[in-house]
Amino acid sequence: MARPATTLPHPLVAGATCVDLSVLVPVYNEQETLPELERRLEGVLDGLGLDCEVIAVNDGSADGTLALLRAWSGRDPRVRVIDFSRNFGHQAALYAALCRARGRAVVLMDGDLQDPPEVIPHMVERWREGHEVVYAVRRKRKEGLLKRVAYAAFYRLLQRIAYLKIPLDSGGFSLLDHRVAAVLKGMPERNKFLRGLRTWAGFRQTSLLYERDARYAGHTKYGLSKLFRLALDGIVSYSYVPLRVSYAFGLVVSGMSFILAVVYLFQKLFSAKYVPQGFTTLAILILFLGGVQLLTVGLLGEYVGRIYDEVKRRPDFVERELIGFDGAGRR
Ligand code: UDP
Ligand code: MG
Repeated sequence: MARPATTLPHPLVAGATCVDLSVLVPVYNEQETLPELERRLEGVLDGLGLDCEVIAVNDGSADGTLALLRAWSGRDPRVRVIDFSRNFGHQAALYAALCRARGRAVVLMDGDLQDPPEVIPHMVERWREGHEVVYAVRRKRKEGLLKRVAYAAFYRLLQRIAYLKIPLDSGGFSLLDHRVAAVLKGMPERNKFLRGLRTWAGFRQTSLLYERDARYAGHTKYGLSKLFRLALDGIVSYSYVPLRVSYAFGLVVSGMSFILAVVYLFQKLFSAKYVPQGFTTLAILILFLGGVQLLTVGLLGEYVGRIYDEVKRRPDFVERELIGFDGAGRR
């Protein structure tokens, strides 16, 4: 099988040998799915004819996930495991794997088999054609109506207000050339929203349509609040529109109050029908303005909180243990 045209000496980690392809998989309480993931991913990797590695990140699982990963790594020297000291979240886990990946290309995929491993060979094909980013675009989702609607609304909102055109309906599932991986790895920002950074990085990008499966087992680890945080990360990191919303509100409200003032004045001076505006009007006005002000302060807080995160410069994750990274029989 022809090798990709990249002959750069060392893509990501100084001093280490490199492989052709790294598959990065964050896992959090996925003990029911792991055996099936192992079976399907191994099948795909064996068929690729490339020198591959799998980097699985145990993101603070409370079930038997770590033991299963350890056993998998024992059976297959291509599999390496990063064990986090606690749950740091999906994006942090992907980022940790990215930092340790040595592939000329890396594939980012979920560990719940929603991103079918069988798509990887098609991604590799595109990469060999010279594309540096191949992102998978879902044809349709197999999730509950509420989640589908929420996702659709979020991606469309993001597309409208973000200063980057983040492709619609593309999630994390993607292949990145090592040059792109190096760019993402070098990003200093906290609260990374990797699919946004991937767009930000540029390079030759292409999409690949695929059928997103339902979760193989278990249930989503993204509760509504986690999803909401991720959505906020996406919006706040790639758009200044929420900051500007207060201008618009301010303009409209002050315009309206000016008109109202003129109307009242005229009524008072020239009309016999002048009726003093009572409690209801006042209450509504105070509540409306109070609401608008709190909302904009909250929005501002989202940005300020993120600035605070940047200033603290805490790492995105803490690794407790590395399994299968060196030692006998390993690259
Ligand atoms: N995941 C993780 N840490 C978390 C939440 C999720 O590593 O805090 C992993 C999870 O095991 C899965 C992937 O990230 O492999 C995607 O999560 P999930 O399927 O729960 O999200 P959804 O597909 O429902 O958005
Ligand atoms: Mg999932």
